[in-house]
Amino acid sequence: MDTINDIAIFFGRALTKIVFETFIKGGFVADSLVERPMPGVRVVEPVPMTREEFERVHDPAYVAAVIGGDPTHLAWSNGKGWDEWLFASVAISNGAVRDAVLEAYRTRRNSGALSSGLHHAKYERGDGYCTFNGLVAAALAALDAGARRVLILDVDAHCGGGTASLIDGVDGIEQLDISVFGFDSYRDVANSRLVMATGSNYLEVIDRELANVVDPGSIDVVIFNAGMDPHEDAAGVTGITTEVIAERERMVFAWAWANQVPVAFTLAGGYIREGGATMDELVDLHRLTIATAAAVN
Ligand SMILES: [Zn+2]
Repeated sequence: MDTINDIAIFFGRALTKIVFETFIKGGFVADSLVERPMPGVRVVEPVPMTREEFERVHDPAYVAAVIGGDPTHLAWSNGKGWDEWLFASVAISNGAVRDAVLEAYRTRRNSGALSSGLHHAKYERGDGYCTFNGLVAAALAALDAGARRVLILDVDAHCGGGTASLIDGVDGIEQLDISVFGFDSYRDVANSRLVMATGSNYLEVIDRELANVVDPGSIDVVIFNAGMDPHEDAAGVTGITTEVIAERERMVFAWAWANQVPVAFTLAGGYIREGGATMDELVDLHRLTIATAAAVN
């Protein structure tokens, strides 16, 4: 665990002019990797996700709306708007997740995607700044490649209700969802376990939930939705500090390492705010995930 090894990080720049963290944050993280390189980290251009891949997860009418901009109630349903570059942008960011997951599955090593805006997307519409659910599309791609058990580990501050609804009853994909806010919560959904944590018991809950995963050695790949929005300065809750987040990442990657399970991470949430985190500080939080993934690889 002391050796730093090569790690592939998938990223392609968004073309959309919509200015919001979900679309622009990956670019700032990628820029930081040029300005302040991290040992062993290599940024790779992803293959964009295709319309057909999206249609395995989403209603074709919704996919068509995101491509063409009409009807607007569907095209704009991510909550942040639509422009003629939105589809190409989310095709790149979702393709990055798929490529990271396949890389981890095939090489048995950690990888990642500088992608956000995934876990709230539903079958027939976007939701909560999420357009398409690349977590589920990537999990399906892993099953196609031969994986038999994919775990989506979602520690974004908000619940992954989009993912839960999409994997309900799907063999081979399960979700462990540890959240601090109730947005997009759900109950009684097969394959998903939702646990609410607080600023004071956050690490304890994560530690317990990881320890309770049944037969972790049989998981072929973990898709880690590593949101930074639980952080108290990144739109999260008091008590979840940088030290807590750093420990969270260490716990997740050490657990996966101990069970010989490769992890593909995504950036997920984490927001700049007045009086809170700046973009530089947010980038540094996401770099904790990358550094930990590279160190425990
Ligand atoms: Zn979130």
